[in-house]
Amino acid sequence: MTSPLTDLRKAAREIGALKSASGLLGWDQETYMPEKGGGARAESQGALATLTHEKLTSEKFRGLIEAASGLSLEPRDRALVRELKRDAENARKIPADLAENLARTASLAQQAWAKARAADDGKGGKGAPGEFLPWLRKMVDLKRQEADCLGFRDTPYDALLDQFEPGATAAAVKPVLEKLRDGLVPLLDSVLARAASRAEGALPPVQSADVPQAAQHAFNERLLRDMGFDLESGRLDASTHPFTQGMGPLDVRLTTRYREDDWLNAVFSTLHEGGHGLYEQGLPDEEWGTPLCEAVSLAIHESQSRFWENRVGRSRPYWEHALPIAREMLGDSVSGATVDAVLSHVNRVERSFIRVEADELTYNLHVLLRFQIEEALFSGALEVEGIEAAWNDGMTKLLGLTPPDAARGFMQDVHWSCGLFGYFPTYTLGNLYAAQFAAAMERDLGPLDAKIRTGDFVPMREWLRDKVHRHGREFPAADLCRRATGSDLDASHFLRYLEGKYLGPA
Ligand code: ZN
Repeated sequence: MTSPLTDLRKAAREIGALKSASGLLGWDQETYMPEKGGGARAESQGALATLTHEKLTSEKFRGLIEAASGLSLEPRDRALVRELKRDAENARKIPADLAENLARTASLAQQAWAKARAADDGKGGKGAPGEFLPWLRKMVDLKRQEADCLGFRDTPYDALLDQFEPGATAAAVKPVLEKLRDGLVPLLDSVLARAASRAEGALPPVQSADVPQAAQHAFNERLLRDMGFDLESGRLDASTHPFTQGMGPLDVRLTTRYREDDWLNAVFSTLHEGGHGLYEQGLPDEEWGTPLCEAVSLAIHESQSRFWENRVGRSRPYWEHALPIAREMLGDSVSGATVDAVLSHVNRVERSFIRVEADELTYNLHVLLRFQIEEALFSGALEVEGIEAAWNDGMTKLLGLTPPDAARGFMQDVHWSCGLFGYFPTYTLGNLYAAQFAAAMERDLGPLDAKIRTGDFVPMREWLRDKVHRHGREFPAADLCRRATGSDLDASHFLRYLEGKYLGPA
């Protein structure tokens, strides 16, 4: 006779196998699927989703969880049962008709958003809110229903946050983000004043002619290998929107985006996705298919990508290490590039309207605005009709800019049209976690810059693997942070990092 825990693991791995198959189909859809393959692919994905949901919500699975819950277990096994119970209960809480309505409305609302965003607003700008607002209202109503089904203590927004950042609540996140805002707004003024006072000499261009994609690909693979990404357990391909898809620690697919007239574009996508990829490769393979081999939260995932992209990749020592390699592998087109020119190209700070184009400092003010609006929307303090005014007011307060139209204002991002409320904060929480991890890493390993300058990345990867990756979902994100760094998440580490970088000695 097998033990209930063995049976539960086996059942969990069957569900994990279906998710892994679906992940691979999704990766293929974004990389190699021929244009006409979409119809059959949607059918396959739908069938896999139904099967996964059936298994997760079955009486049999519930019985296995109950039987295992009654055992006296090791902490790691106890965490496994706890997380499977959470997944199964959450899946059971959403009625099939609501799930179906959400999926259908999201698809239609997204199309309405794309059309309205591109349309003339009648005032000489882009983005016709009138066409989009009814859809946004529908989406918000459905997300409220979903939150009611999932349950929450203070505000429906908590239930939505919890889907991306398990355990996070508005009450816990708000003071962290407010502290960040109070530091960032004056910091931005100082950074811009300092930049203006510096007479920028003419720097050589970072590129003189197009750099062929094949050469860029080889260079980007080299950068990944340097970070410790295992290309025998992963791949790098190209896609319109870079992403990472792990089928398990031994098969992690990354994508990047190549522009022949801007070789640095792919580099930063690659470093970003490479950070995600190292997390996926660092999960414990012996637990494949179970929550112990899954990332704990989106913010922790994002902390890994931001660490490599920004803390490492946008630093001077990184380019002292990487530029000679670039010159060697990319040829004459980049032979004139200097470290100063690259850094000024990738570290420019400016007030701007568009989140995805923002620098690593102002980016977080864009996210703060979205958090404030989402929170007010679900607490009932703000109606959908008031979003545009709230947005423009918030942009003026945080960034000193008023959007000229909705396309450069509240309609710029796709997220809300597909019901992704509670997702934005994870981007900034990821930055905060990344800075706090880096500070703890530096305390444990000594100055990081000295390692980066010599391309000695393995100790940093190993630190992250030990403190973050190998635990999977064993500890909630807040506990993981405390165990790794010795304290709760705190914006001061990120603020200190930005001050050092942008106001410190050049
Ligand atoms: Zn990311």
